Amino acid sequence: MFSKKMMLLLWPSNYHISRMFSIESKKVLDQQVALVIGSTYGIGLSIARRLAQDGATVLLNSRKQENVDRAVRELTEEGLNVSGTICHVGKAEDREKLVETALQRYGKINILVCNAAVNPSVGPLLETTEEIWNKVLGVNVTSHFLMTKLVVPHMQKVGGGSIIICTSLVAFRPHPNFGPYCVSKTALLSLTQVLAMALQPMNIRVNGLAFGLINTNLSDVLTNAPEKKKEIMTYYGVPRIGEPEECGGIASFLCSPDASYINGENITVSGGSHGRL
Ligand code: NAP
Repeated sequence: MFSKKMMLLLWPSNYHISRMFSIESKKVLDQQVALVIGSTYGIGLSIARRLAQDGATVLLNSRKQENVDRAVRELTEEGLNVSGTICHVGKAEDREKLVETALQRYGKINILVCNAAVNPSVGPLLETTEEIWNKVLGVNVTSHFLMTKLVVPHMQKVGGGSIIICTSLVAFRPHPNFGPYCVSKTALLSLTQVLAMALQPMNIRVNGLAFGLINTNLSDVLTNAPEKKKEIMTYYGVPRIGEPEECGGIASFLCSPDASYINGENITVSGGSHGRL
C-alpha cells in the first residue's frame, strides 16, 4: 500500500488533473461575454476574432453601420459567436446603449477591451487646435475611463472581469509630429495602473498592451510613403511592421484564467524595439 504522502508524490496534483480534462473539453474564454471597443477593423477586429475563437461571445461595435455589418458577417461566416451594434465611444448615449445592448442580448459582461483611438492631426504640436486636442484626449482617454466606469458594476455582479487598455510605443517615446496622440497614449499607461489598483478588490484585472507599428488604417497615415515609413521604423527601432493577427493572442491570454496573477502591467507588443525606449 502507498502512504498518502507517496500518493501525492506519484500523482499529479488535482490542479493538473483538472487542467488535463478541461483542456480537452473547454475553450479558455467559454461563457465569457466581451466588448471590444472599435472592433470592425484593424487590431480591434483581430482581438475580437481571437476572443471569439477562444470561446467568448463578442459584441462588435464602431461608429459606422457598414463597418459593423461587414465585421459581423465576416466573423459569423467563420463560425464565431458575435453580433454587432453602432457605438461612437466618445458619446455618452452611445456608451450607455452599448452596455444595455450587451446586457439585453447576453445578460452579462466579463471582458472589456478599450481599443478605439483617433489621430486626426500630424504636424507640429503648437499647430494643434483646442478642438483637435479635445477630440484626441476625449476619444483616446476620457471615453475609455467612462466606458470602464459603466461596465465595472456589471463585472462586479458576475464576481470579476478583465479589462485591456490598448496603448502604443509612442507612450514611452513620443514623436514630435503627433504630440496629442502621444500624450493620450502615455496617459493610458497611468490609467491602466490606477484602474488596476482601484478594481483589484473587485477581482477585476486591468492590463495595457503597447503596440509597435501594426499594419492598419491608422498606421497607414504614418507609413504611406517609403521615406516616412523608414523614418518611423528607425525612430522606434522596430524590425518590421506587425500584422493585426499578431495582437489577438496576447489579449486573449490576458483575459484568460492563465493570467490570473497578472494585473496593472503595460506589455509591449512590438517585435522588439531594440531597447531604444
Ligand atoms: P484602426 O485601423 O483605425 O481601427 C480603429 C477601429 O476603431 C475601427 O473599427 C473604427 O471603426 C473604430 N473607431 C474609431 N473611432 C471610434 C470611435 N470614436 N468610437 C468607436 N469606434 C471607433 O486602428 P488600429 O490601428 O487598429 O488601432 C487600434 C488601437 O491600437 C488604437 O488604440 C491605437 O492607438 C493602437 N495602436 C495602433 C498601432 C498601429 O500601428 N496600428 C500602434 C500602436 C497602437 P469606425 O471607423 O467604423 O468607427
